[in-house]
Amino acid sequence: MKHLSASRRTVLGGGVALGTAALLAACGAGTAPAPARLLRPGDPGYRAEVSPFNPNQIPRPGTVVRARTADDVRDAVRDAAARRAPVGVLATGHQPSAPIGEDAVLISTRAMRGVTIDAGRMAARVEAGALWGHTLTASLGQRLVPLHGSTGTVGVVGYTLGGGLSPLLGRVHGYAADHVVAIDVVGADGELRTVTAGSDPELFFGLRGGKSNFGIVTAMEFGLFPVPPLYGGAIMFGGADGARVLHAYREWVRTVPETMSSSVALLRLPDLPQVPEPLRGKLVTTVRIAFTGPAGEGAALVAPLRAAATPLIDQVAEMPWSGYAAIHSDPTTPTPAYERTALLRELSADAVDALFTAAGPDAPAPVTAVEIRHLGGALARPPQAESAVSHRDAAFTLFVAGVGSPEQAGHLREAAAGIVRAMQPWSTGGMYLNFMNTDDTSTDSVRRAYRPEVYDRLLTLKKRVDPDNMFRLNHNIVS
Ligand SMILES: Cc1cc2nc3c(=O)[nH]c(=O)nc-3n(C[C@H](O)[C@H](O)[C@H](O)COP(=O)(O)OP(=O)(O)OC[C@H]3O[C@@H](n4cnc5c(N)ncnc54)[C@H](O)[C@@H]3O)c2cc1C
Repeated sequence: MKHLSASRRTVLGGGVALGTAALLAACGAGTAPAPARLLRPGDPGYRAEVSPFNPNQIPRPGTVVRARTADDVRDAVRDAAARRAPVGVLATGHQPSAPIGEDAVLISTRAMRGVTIDAGRMAARVEAGALWGHTLTASLGQRLVPLHGSTGTVGVVGYTLGGGLSPLLGRVHGYAADHVVAIDVVGADGELRTVTAGSDPELFFGLRGGKSNFGIVTAMEFGLFPVPPLYGGAIMFGGADGARVLHAYREWVRTVPETMSSSVALLRLPDLPQVPEPLRGKLVTTVRIAFTGPAGEGAALVAPLRAAATPLIDQVAEMPWSGYAAIHSDPTTPTPAYERTALLRELSADAVDALFTAAGPDAPAPVTAVEIRHLGGALARPPQAESAVSHRDAAFTLFVAGVGSPEQAGHLREAAAGIVRAMQPWSTGGMYLNFMNTDDTSTDSVRRAYRPEVYDRLLTLKKRVDPDNMFRLNHNIVS
C-alpha cells in the first residue's frame, strides 16, 4: 500500500475532494503516489487483502478499497459508479460466487470490525466486516447470544443477508435475518441510508435475503437472546455403521422438540496427525447436537442415537456456549472447497439409502463432506417482518463439499454435483442462498434460492435501486 496521508482523510475518510477514478488517473501518470487504502494489483498488501477463505476462486479486481468507515464505502461506490465499474464486497471470502476481474472495484470490509452490544435493548450493532467470533465474545460478556452459525470465522453481515441459519438456535428463533432491525447501506446512487421496516419496507424486505444485490451494507443492528444452557457436541461413528446411523437419525429427528438442533454428516477425514487416531484417514458419520435445555433432558433425547451403533468418539455433554465451535469443528484456516447444495422436503428411508450409495464408503466419486441439517421449528414459521428469505417449508439442507486444489476441480465438482443429483427425488427444487457457491451463479440457479413471487419482487426492487446492475458480483438477481 502506498501512503498519502493527506488524501487518506479527504479522499476516503471525509469525503469528496477527489474520487478513486481521478486518483487512479494520477497513479497511472506516475506523478502522485496512490492514496492510502487504495490497492492495485502488484501493490504490497493487495494479495493479502483479496485472499479469500476459499482460495479456489481468488478475486482479481483492478481496484481494492480497504474501507475503514461507512464514508469510505460510500466514496468507493460513487467512484465506481462514475467509471461504470461493477462493485463487489469481501469480508472473509467464505462464499465465492461470480468471478471478480480487472474491471471491478472490490470493497474490502476487513478493517470494519466494530461491535457494540446494547444489553438493555438486547441488541447488537456490527460494522460490515465483523466476524461471528468476536461478535459472540462481546455478546457473551453481556450474557446474550446472537443467531450465529457453526463457526466464528464467518462474516456476520454476509451470513445474515443470506438468511443466517444457526445450527444452535435457528429452530428456536428462526433465521438471523428475521431479527434484523436496521441496516446501514450504500446504494447504487452513492447514498448512505439507514433502512428499517418503516423507512423503506421493500428495500428492507430485499436486503434480508438478497445479499449484496441492493447495496453495500456498512453496519447492521439485530436482536440478541439470553444465553440458554447448552448440551451439545459431536458423536462420531465408523463408516461401516453409517447407514444404520443415518436411518436412526431420520427416525429420531421426527421426534425431537424445537430446542434440539442437529445435523448428520459423512466426513472423509484427512490422514493427518492433528486428527484423533481412531478417525485419521477414515470415513466417519458424525451427528452434531445442540440442545438448548437441561443436560439430563438432552441426554435422554440423544439416547436413541447413541444406541444406533458403537461410537468411535462421543463428545456430547453439557458445555459453555463459548465452546460451540467444537460441535461442527469447521476448518478455521483457508480451505479450498467446491460446494453444492439442495433443500430436501423429507429424509425417507429411500433418501437415506440413495445418500449412502452416492456418498458412503463405496461411493463412485467420493467427496470430503456431505451434511444434512435439520430445519423446521421457527425456521418454518413466517417472520415478524417479511423478508426475501424463502423456502421455509424445506425440512433439511443438503450441503456437499469437495476439498481440493484447482487441479482437482473437475473431479470434485462432478462428484459434488453427482450427490446432489442422486438426492433430486427428495429435493424441493429450492436452494439455501448461503450454501450456494461458484457453480450456482446462473440466473436459473439464483432463481431457485427464492419463491417465484419473491424473485419477481426482487427484480422490481433491483430495477428501482440498481438499474445498471452495478452490484452484480454475487448471486445476481437479473431477469
Ligand atoms: C465453514 C463455513 C461455515 C458456515 N456455516 C454457516 C452456518 O452455520 N449457517 C449459515 O447460514 N451459513 C453458513 N456458512 C455460509 C456463510 O454464511 C456464507 O458463506 C456467507 O456469505 C459468508 O459471508 P462472509 O461475509 O463471511 O463471506 P464473503 O465471501 O466475504 O461474502 C459473501 C457474500 O456476502 C455478501 N456480503 C458480504 N458482506 C457484505 C456487505 N457488507 N454488504 C452486502 N453484502 C455483503 C456479498 O454478496 C458477498 O459476495 C458457512 C460457510 C463456511 C465456509
